Amino acid sequence: QPNCQCRTGAEHGGQSPVVPHRHLPRQPKPKILDTILDHVGETPLVRLHKIPATEGVQCEVLVKAEFFNPGGSVKDRIAKRMFEEAERNGTIKPGDTIIEPTSGNTGIGLALCAAVKGYRAIITMPEKMSQEKVDVLKALGAEIVRTPTEAAYDAPESHISVAKRLNAQIPNSMILDQYANIYNPVAHYDATAEEILDACGGRIDMLVAGAGTGGTISGIARKIKERVPDCTVVGVDPHGSILAQPESLNTSHGSYQTEGIGYDFIPDVLDRSLVDEWQKSDDQESFTMARRLIKEEGLLCGGSSGSALASALKAAKRLQPGQRCVVILPDSVRNYMTKFLNDGWMRDHHFLDAKAQREEQHTIQ
Ligand code: PMP
Repeated sequence: QPNCQCRTGAEHGGQSPVVPHRHLPRQPKPKILDTILDHVGETPLVRLHKIPATEGVQCEVLVKAEFFNPGGSVKDRIAKRMFEEAERNGTIKPGDTIIEPTSGNTGIGLALCAAVKGYRAIITMPEKMSQEKVDVLKALGAEIVRTPTEAAYDAPESHISVAKRLNAQIPNSMILDQYANIYNPVAHYDATAEEILDACGGRIDMLVAGAGTGGTISGIARKIKERVPDCTVVGVDPHGSILAQPESLNTSHGSYQTEGIGYDFIPDVLDRSLVDEWQKSDDQESFTMARRLIKEEGLLCGGSSGSALASALKAAKRLQPGQRCVVILPDSVRNYMTKFLNDGWMRDHHFLDAKAQREEQHTIQ
């Protein structure tokens, strides 16, 4: 790839060096799948109807429903790709141990790959992440280490530090490292972005995605900017996180309930030079919008999908009829059945808005 500009990021005082890597063409899906891993990607792009109309958004709003991946999230894409590339270059082989610090979905993707391919998986995950994720990880045969949510990323008890320590202790173990692995953004550059561009016939005016590692937004944005330079890329970062720019947007450093987006450090794979504008999101609007996506559009998504759409609707207000905004919905409500899907949990956390409270009271007993 002599002209390839993919980098892990543009942080740390300028452009990081181009890391050697390869690209793959979009893979056609066979009719009979050899394993469930062949079902990763090629997710539906779905038009929204009711929500944009009621919010006064005139452009077309399309969502990429990543919860149709076999592990239930967008992170299956990078788990599969990081696994395949490490196997290909001989750094891992069946029987080895994969260790990964994650907010859960990368863990589920890796545990799925590990189960199918015959590896041991150890997942380190902050306490904040849902019991539903823990139960799915366990069911896939992964071992789980919970770490304190409030630990700074570089504290010895953080999910990242604990993973590093286990890696040093366990023979034949490997951290694929979604925060720095070039195949995190490249999985999205090669596949997710191609799928979107193909479905849209190359006509896309705005892309909106939340950022955790930043692999999703960086990989998709890099490809879309090459093909459609005028497309605006909007990043979504929760209040309490520091990923957004300008720095003045990041006013609070508290905790938040939305899982999978935001960090207290800038991951290497997040290339903020590809993001044209950032929107800050909060828990209440995220969970309210995720519940609306389920109720009004039938899309059984997770909380960060609500963050992405709530922010998208604000940014897309300035687009005209005939223009098009694409929003990434990263995971499924399956991860949050006892959290935002549950009225009691919403009430206990003061996330039910007045309309939702009225509706709850009108529930037929
Ligand atoms: N939403 C959810 C629910 C996630 O698990 C993640 C992954 N951390 C993201 C959004 C953000 O994806 P990325 O890491 O590619 O920025």
